[in-house]
This record gives sequence, C-alpha cells and structure tokens, in this order.
Amino acid sequence: LAVEVHKFGGTSVSSVDGLRTAVRVAEDGGVVLVVSAFAGVTDELERLVVEAASGGAVDPGVPLSLCEERAEELGVAEDGEVREVLGEVGDLLRSVVVILRQLGRPDPRLRDLVLSVGERVAARVVAAFLRSEGVEARAFDSWDIGLVTSDQPGNADIVRWEGTRGLVEGLVEDGVVPVVTGFIGRSVGGYVTTLGRGGSDYTAAVLAGVLGSDAFIWTDVDGIMTADPGVVEAEVVPRLSYEEAVIAGASGAEVLHPKAVEAAMNMGVVIRVGNSFTGRVGTVVCEGSPPGPKVVAHRLDVVLLTVRGAKMVDEPGVIGRITSALGDAGVNVLAISSAVSEPFVNVLVSEDDAEAAAGALDGLEGYDWGLREDVGVVTVVGRGVDPSLVRVEGALVGCSALEGVAYTVVVPEEDVEGVVRGLARVVTRSLRSSVGGGRG
Ligand code: ADP
Ligand code: ASP
Ligand code: MG
Repeated sequence: LAVEVHKFGGTSVSSVDGLRTAVRVAEDGGVVLVVSAFAGVTDELERLVVEAASGGAVDPGVPLSLCEERAEELGVAEDGEVREVLGEVGDLLRSVVVILRQLGRPDPRLRDLVLSVGERVAARVVAAFLRSEGVEARAFDSWDIGLVTSDQPGNADIVRWEGTRGLVEGLVEDGVVPVVTGFIGRSVGGYVTTLGRGGSDYTAAVLAGVLGSDAFIWTDVDGIMTADPGVVEAEVVPRLSYEEAVIAGASGAEVLHPKAVEAAMNMGVVIRVGNSFTGRVGTVVCEGSPPGPKVVAHRLDVVLLTVRGAKMVDEPGVIGRITSALGDAGVNVLAISSAVSEPFVNVLVSEDDAEAAAGALDGLEGYDWGLREDVGVVTVVGRGVDPSLVRVEGALVGCSALEGVAYTVVVPEEDVEGVVRGLARVVTRSLRSSVGGGRG
C-alpha cells in the first residue's frame, strides 16, 4: 500500500482556497496530511512567551482568537473536537503564561509547550473542515502515530518511528485520512518539543521516508523560486539537488526547511514543492540537478564581525583560533573570509549569536574586533556557479560558502534588495538558457 504525504503550510491551511488541494488529495484517498499552525499563530505564541517571561501580558487572547477566526472562516467553529481543543489549549495557555511570568525567563521547554498549541489546533480544525467536505478525516498529534523526537527543546530531531508505518497504513486502509501535526513532537523523555521554526516540512519529509512516499510540500508560492517572490520578481526553479536546496534554505530561502531536505536526502525521499492554491507542483528536489545558478537567497538577520590583530598576517592558525573560540561559545559561523595580504578576518554570524560571539572574541588575547549590524547577506546557490556572476559593486565581503555550490556576498542592508534583484535576473537568464540541457 502506497500512502502519499502532503504537507500544508500556514497560509494554505488558513482559508478554503488554500485548502482546495487538501480537499482534492483527501478525496482521492491514500494520503496522510501534515499541517502547520494557521498563519501568524506561532509568531503570536512566541510573542506571548517573551512577553509573559519579561513580566508582561498573561492573556493569550491574540493567538486564541486567531485560531477561532480561522475555525469560523472554515465553518467548523461548532465542531465538537474543535471546541474541545480550543477549550483545552485556552486553559493550558492561561496557566503556562502565569508560570512563565513567575519564572521571569522564557524557559525553553515551556516555550515548546506553548508553541505546540498552534499545530494541535490546526490539525483538529483541518480535519473537521475535511469532514464537512465529506472526507473521513481524523486529527492526530505526531506522537499519536509513534513519532518520537530527541529532547533538545526548540530544535529537536525526529529519532524514532516505531509502529508509525503500520498505524498510518491501517488507518488509510480503513478509509481514514489522518491529519497530523507538523513541527511539534514528544521526546524520548516525554517532553513536548518543537523541531525548529518552519519545521513542519521536516515532519513531512521524515513521514514520507517512513512510508516510502514522495513528500508533497504545498505552500503559498509556486515552488522554490529564483529569489524570494515577496521581495523581487522571480521564477520557479524546476529542479534542485538536495545539496542546493539545503544551502538555499540555510541561506534564507525559507520556503523549504533545510532539516527537511537533509532528512529527505538520507531517507531517499523526493520532495515536490507546489502551490496549494493552484494545485500545481513547481519544483522537484532530488538527487542531482543540471549545473548552474538557481536560487538567490538572502538574510537580513546577520551581523558582520571584523577581527584584527597586529600579527595576523603571518601568524599560523589564526582563523582556527577564532572559529574555535566562537564554536566553544555555541556560535554558528555562517561565512568567513580573509585575504593573505590583509590583517583581518571577517566572520558572519546570525543576529541571535551576536552576543555570544562578542563574548568569545573578548576572551581572545591580542585581537581587536568590531561589529556591523546594518548588513545583509546574499547567496547565489547552484552547483557550478561561475563566481564572476557574483561580483557585486560595493560588497563588504565575498566568499565561496561551499566550494562550487554557493557564493555569498555581504552588503550594506540598504543594498540587499537591489543586489537580489540584479542577481535574480542573471539566474533567470541562465535557467532559461539551460532548459532542456544539462545533466540529470
Ligand atoms: P509555509 O507556511 O507554507 O511553510 P513559508 O512561509 O515557510 O510557507 O515559505 C513560503 C515563503 O517563503 C514564500 O511565501 C516566500 O515569501 C518565501 N520565500 C523566500 N525565498 C523563497 C524562494 N527562493 N522561493 C520561494 N519562496 C521563497
Ligand atoms: N508553525 C511553525 C512555524 O511557524 C512550523 C511551520 O510553519 O512549519 O514555525
Ligand atoms: Mg514553512
């Protein structure tokens, strides 16, 4: 029995139009659906945690009413299971935020518990909506179908799936369409966890691996595009390799979570990314792809550290010393560059890591360092990208992020949009000229 996995993102589950493809695949049967929280709900839950932990509001009214509005719009506000879950999570949120306020810090496990509410509600509402369309749908939390995660709060991995395949196949054989929560899990130790923001893609990829299916990722754009279509005009990229898709995701193209791509690669799953509003798949992610530039990704949530030392030019091992100090402080280095002739090293890190990085560099003797926050990073992804394509006027730093697969430039924040637009044009031209060509 082949059971197909179809995942629907936050915008897709938030309206009747967005759920059209879900209705179609559910009516055809032989599928399991994975769902995200409604658009904006996880952000609101996150805000609630931060606010409560810093002594502010303890009223979870905003995320709850977002959920209620969606249930109403989908015509299932009166469904018994929907009412039940809304009551239950309302009680839970009210208690947890009181505890967070008392704790005075955003405890990571409590944060996961709060965030888990978004997907738990969405699964019940989507299942109820499908029932109202005549489909026998049933909601499940990921742990109900046997998925078990690591204990790492905020960024857990799915580590076990005992019995999952048999359970899902049994349900499908009985004509049921399971609607499973993405993004959230329960750990080996029994804690509620989350898999990282945007992590519903990852749930879908693992489930597809377990069931031996392709992973259909239905979202609010036509596929993985040459650049963020919310920022510049972009075109669909028909095919990416796993390697390219991981780098695109990690470099800011949030359409597909890099953990999902890694899981798919390890489990031999083909990913198909499409628009849930039109029902068309635009991008296939699989092993190998025609050479050439494909995606221009960008991130604004980065800072540039410039480390200087008088002796840097001939001092051996200096880069190693800097990166290991940063590594010891738990800082993830996004890019690094230096030139033999110049006494400094540039290091790019995420805004979230800036404080830890500053502490680590302060601890290094004999070096000065400076930090620039008003920068963004633009990455051109594609195996065999010609580096001369990525020569950008006014770039602060340029480097090959991963040999031959991606080139990165750091530019002043105000230039990011223009640079993305210019590079996207180059990529589009190259994609058009290679259609039909290239190796498989
Ligand atoms: P979902 O809720 O369906 O998971 P996401 O918001 O996580 O959707 O991802 C889809 C969004 O990713 C798009 O609406 C788009 O704004 C953004 N995006 C950024 N870069 C790209 C890209 N290169 N191709 C497609 N979408 C991109
Ligand atoms: N709802 C989660 C988030 O907003 C997971 C996801 O959308 O994939 O991060
Ligand atoms: Mg997403």
